[in-house]
Amino acid sequence: MNRIGAHLHIATGIDPLIKEIQLLNINTLQIFSGSPRTYRKTATTNSESLKYLENKLQEINIYPLVIHAPYLVNLGSLREDVALKSAYTLENELRFLEILNGQFLVFHFGTSKTPLNEKRMIYYLDSLADMVPPGINLLLENNPGGETSKIVYLQNLINKVSKPDRLGICLDTCHLYAAGYNLRNNDSVNHIFEEADGMVKLIHLNDSRGNLGSGVDRHAHIGKGNIGLQGIITFLHHKYIDDLPIIIETPKDSPDADGDNLKILRHILGRKMVDSN
Ligand SMILES: [Zn+2]
Repeated sequence: MNRIGAHLHIATGIDPLIKEIQLLNINTLQIFSGSPRTYRKTATTNSESLKYLENKLQEINIYPLVIHAPYLVNLGSLREDVALKSAYTLENELRFLEILNGQFLVFHFGTSKTPLNEKRMIYYLDSLADMVPPGINLLLENNPGGETSKIVYLQNLINKVSKPDRLGICLDTCHLYAAGYNLRNNDSVNHIFEEADGMVKLIHLNDSRGNLGSGVDRHAHIGKGNIGLQGIITFLHHKYIDDLPIIIETPKDSPDADGDNLKILRHILGRKMVDSN
């Protein structure tokens, strides 16, 4: 059984967040700890309110709890100061996750376009993996283009870290498609999971406004992009997806947008159970 959830905002307050979770009837959740476009935290880090949030999330059975790191994080940056700032940011995010009793910290490799310093990336991944408490995983998210969009590259990278069990992969469907993985084709989906070699821990579900292999990172509503409903069904009905948590990261262009996307997701997953019986 897949647990399903959405990326929601906590900037509007804890109680509205909990209300929204209940309204959407989800059992996993992704949030930012602060502003996603700066290194600095802007959300509440007051320990009392974090404790309150942790209790509430437990009460309503949210599992896994996922924190998405700011977009600027790039451990493999060619600039040492950027890589260092990124490592500090991730360290803070890890603490935040630990206080909230969460499970996954998802982060990107910076832009798809610039080359990265792999040695530096492994150095920082090593030091972060040392700090990861039991029960928490650092998840590398696949990029929509460049070398870091290749799943085999992520898998190899994780195996170069001294504690690979502290890491994992978050697969984003829009990014997969933009990187040239055709989710409408079952063999292609097989190939993704063979490359990942058991390291996928979480799915970000989006359709893609960009074309196959375009490198364009533009998320679309489920079934309304170029992957299309049939492509999303092929992907979600794949045997490797069976127990993975799924978080939608679809556009929030109307008040009902998340609810509508979740409805389609539930329908597809419900169909899968019928088909496999
Ligand atoms: Zn994503």
